[in-house]
Amino acid sequence: MRRAWCTSTIGCGKATSRRDREILYEGDEDEEKTRMKMFIEGQLTGAQGADEIKVANPATGEVVDSVPKGGREDAKRAVDAASEAFKVWSEKPALDRSRVLLKIAEVVRANVGDLATTLTLEQGKPLGEAQSEINSFANTCEYYAGLIGRERGAHTPFSTGEGFFIVTKRPLGVVGAILPWNFPVSLMGWKVGPGLAAGNTFVVKPASTTPLTDIRVASLMVKAGLPPGAVNVVTGPGAVVGEELLDNPKVAKIAFTGETATGKRIMEGSSKSIKRLTLELGGSDPMIVCDDADLQLAVEGAAWGRFRNCGQSCTSVKRLFLFDSIADTFVKSLAEKVKTIRIGNGMDRATHMGPVHTEEQREKVESMVEDAEGRGAKDIVKGGRPTQTELAKGNFLVPALLGDVDYDAKIAREECFGPALPIFVVKDLEEAIERANDTPYGLGSSVWTKDVERAYHAAERIQAGTTWVNSPPIARAEVPFGGFKQSGFGRELGVEGLDHYYETKSIQVLEYGKGKKWAFPIN
Ligand code: NAD
Repeated sequence: MRRAWCTSTIGCGKATSRRDREILYEGDEDEEKTRMKMFIEGQLTGAQGADEIKVANPATGEVVDSVPKGGREDAKRAVDAASEAFKVWSEKPALDRSRVLLKIAEVVRANVGDLATTLTLEQGKPLGEAQSEINSFANTCEYYAGLIGRERGAHTPFSTGEGFFIVTKRPLGVVGAILPWNFPVSLMGWKVGPGLAAGNTFVVKPASTTPLTDIRVASLMVKAGLPPGAVNVVTGPGAVVGEELLDNPKVAKIAFTGETATGKRIMEGSSKSIKRLTLELGGSDPMIVCDDADLQLAVEGAAWGRFRNCGQSCTSVKRLFLFDSIADTFVKSLAEKVKTIRIGNGMDRATHMGPVHTEEQREKVESMVEDAEGRGAKDIVKGGRPTQTELAKGNFLVPALLGDVDYDAKIAREECFGPALPIFVVKDLEEAIERANDTPYGLGSSVWTKDVERAYHAAERIQAGTTWVNSPPIARAEVPFGGFKQSGFGRELGVEGLDHYYETKSIQVLEYGKGKKWAFPIN
């Protein structure tokens, strides 16, 4: 019998329980049947075609599992299932939807160990980070379970005295949730949490390299009481399955997280049927450290903010701006810190930073570092590929710090999605803000200072959806999250996130006998 999840030899020791496997697999003994399937209408199912996508462990190159390579017909089937489920789910009282979301959170938390193992194996992040990602999915469900049913509407008399209007909210219908590979589970939660709370149903299209945990979570959601078809997961290429979601007239909204370039295509494709849209795109987040900052705190924040998830967060610190007077001390201390970051297989509990997710991604980061070096950047901490033989088969990179970086270098102008940090020295806050804003992106940012006036001044002027003050980037369920400029539009999380899953409906009521008479000629 094959152990489907724990193909790694390091630190796992925890096979998926028989009970969970029964949820996921049709049988244990047959090798063929232990392949992961898509999830449509509450069932694990194959695709119409026979092709598969192999899911590889970024730390070892080993195949973890495979999923069906879905096509347009599979996506259509899932949309039809979601459309049917919408009739049931949207009619449920808010209290019932809230209870199901709470149960989902409970069931997901109860499975955190196995889910996190799967996530680490397919994505590469350390087990602790994977666990916190699974818990964050549960947090989001709990947050929206608490919000739903507690919203207040508006009742307003007409200024003419003829009657009144009320404003109500209606769910949109079927939502296509298109996900990236860097936070496959928490970002699914950012969409299905508010979306289900509002009464919508979903077809989820995970990234081809990270479908496994999402399928498992979706099947647990149905186990927890979600009607079959309310959340479906279709695996397959973005250019096929994703495009079907853009084309399909039954899909009312696309909730997309991914690269800015893909976001532009999503926007274009969604225009055919004027779909609602939220776009959570790339970022090149600035971190500004003033001369009065708590330097030790800021050093910890910079290391955590840049190298968590191997630098592959949309809100990773991607450009560091230091006041001239503290730059030398700060850089020395940060370099010492960065050299202590232990890279390795995410299944090893001692690992601080796992591999880059794919070889292609690793090469992109390397080429950005080379470009910066070619323009005169100095290696404060030299990156590159590690030499340890046990890491040779993974996509590992040593964390890099670069000084004297040209502002026109790719690493300064584009999104660097990996463990390399360019450092810039500025004379004051005004220069830091000007440089921080000199980018097409506007997702996150941070300012580090003990002076509240400085913090407020910077936060008001930095063109980004979030400014953290004395904190590295941490998303919280209650705080709206999203971008300015080419980092996207719309907001996820918070009360604002819920609003993006509703249509606003106005109902105008004329009081009998008070309405104006409708007669021609109009005057
Ligand atoms: P990506 O744009 O390559 O892929 C995202 C998803 O889009 C995948 O599921 C992919 O299959 C799908 N897709 C690709 N082409 C498509 C098409 N033509 N039609 C429909 N779907 C299509 O992004 P990625 O490499 O998976 O993720 C990394 C990027 O995501 C980074 O730029 C990062 O900054 C961004 N990101 C943003 C946020 C945020 O909240 N703003 C959060 C996480 C990641």
